[in-house]
Amino acid sequence: MRVGCPKEIKNHEYRVGLTPGSVREYVAHGHDVIVETGAGAGIGADDHAYRAAGATIVKTAEEVFAKADMIVKVKEPQPSEWVQLREGQILYTYLHLAPDPDQTRGLVESGVTAVAYETVTDDRGGLPLLAPMSEVAGRLAIQAGATALQKADGGRGVLLGGVPGVLPGKVAVIGGGVVGLNAAKMAVGLGADVTIIDRSIPRLRQLDDIFNGRIHTRYSTVEALEEECFSADCVIGAVLIPGAAAPKLVSREMLSGMKQGAVLVDVAIDQGGCFETSKATTHAEPTYAVDGIIHYCVANMPGAVPVTSAHALNNATLHYGLQLADKGLKALTDNPHLRNGLNVHRGRITNAAVADALGYEM
Ligand code: NAD
Repeated sequence: MRVGCPKEIKNHEYRVGLTPGSVREYVAHGHDVIVETGAGAGIGADDHAYRAAGATIVKTAEEVFAKADMIVKVKEPQPSEWVQLREGQILYTYLHLAPDPDQTRGLVESGVTAVAYETVTDDRGGLPLLAPMSEVAGRLAIQAGATALQKADGGRGVLLGGVPGVLPGKVAVIGGGVVGLNAAKMAVGLGADVTIIDRSIPRLRQLDDIFNGRIHTRYSTVEALEEECFSADCVIGAVLIPGAAAPKLVSREMLSGMKQGAVLVDVAIDQGGCFETSKATTHAEPTYAVDGIIHYCVANMPGAVPVTSAHALNNATLHYGLQLADKGLKALTDNPHLRNGLNVHRGRITNAAVADALGYEM
C-alpha cells in the first residue's frame, strides 16, 4: 500500500502523523511511504531523516493526498484537506466528529474510509490511542501548575517541594484516571503533599497500592472537594465522564474559600472543564485570574511538547496503522477494536455516537 503523511496545518500543531521510526516499520512491511517536505520539522526530524528511514519526500500536500492509499495524520482534516480525500482511500487520524458537523459532512461527501484514533478500543475497555495524550497532559499539568504558582506568574509564591524546614505545597488531584495518575506521579516526584479525589472506590484502592502510602486518597463528595480545594496550593481538574460534558465540581463560590494565588489547572477543559470559572486558553496566553485564583485551561496541552507527544502518539498508533496498511479494509473485520475506530465509510457514518449527535442514519 502507499502510505502518505502530509504536514499538519492546524494552527500551532507541531506533531506529525509518522515519525521516521514509524516510517521504517511501514517500509519493513513492504509499503511505500510518501511524506510532505518539512512534515517532521516541529519534532526536529528533517527530510533527510525521513529519506534515511525509506520515505519518498514530495513537495506538496496535494501530491500526498493524490498518491496515497492511506493518509496518516494527527489532527482532524481541515477544509482544504478534506476536499482532497476520495472514495477508496483510508484516513487514519484524530477526528472528534460529534461536535463538528462541517468536517463530518466533508468526510461523508468525500467517500473516504475514516478511522478515528479516539474511538479505537482495547481489550480492557480503554481508548489506547487517547491514553498517551492523557499521560502527557497529566505530567504537564504539574509543570504548568508549579510555574503558575510562582509569584512573578501571579501565583502565591509556593515551591511545591518545599525545602528542609519548610512544608511542601499541597496538590489536590480531582479524578484519578490516566491524567490524574500521571499528575500525581509528577507531584510526588517534586516532593509535594498530594491528595487524589475520585468517585470510584476500586480506582482509589488501585492508586493507594501504586503509591504505597505516598499520597492520600479521598472519595469524591462536596465536603471532600471543599476541604481539599480550600487547603490546596494547586488543584488539578482531571475528571471524565465518557461521552458527557465534565461535571462542574468547583463552583465560583468555592473560590472565595481558597488561598489567594492558588492555582487551578483544568485539564478537563476539552470536555468543557470541571471548574465553573474555566474557559479555554492557549499556550500563547495560558492563564488568567478569577477572584485571585489563577486558572490554567489550555485545551491542547500536548501541543506544548510535540517531540514527546508525537513519539508517544506514534507508539500507540503504529500497531493499528500497520494492520490497516497490511490488510486494507479486511483489518476492520479482523479486529473489532480497530472496527470501533471506523467513523465514516463510503458516504455513511458508521459510529453510533457520531450519528446520534449529528442526526445521521447509520
Ligand atoms: P479517565 O477516564 O482515565 O479518568 C477520569 C477519572 O475521573 C476516572 O477515574 C473517574 O472515576 C473520575 N471521575 C469522574 N467523575 C468524578 C467526580 N465527580 N469526582 C471525582 N472523580 C471523578 O480520563 P483521563 O484520560 O484521565 O482524562 C481526563 C480529562 O482530561 C478528560 O476530559 C480528557 O479529555 C482530558 N484531557 C485533556 C487534555 C488537554 O490537553 N487539556 C489532554 C488529554 C486529556
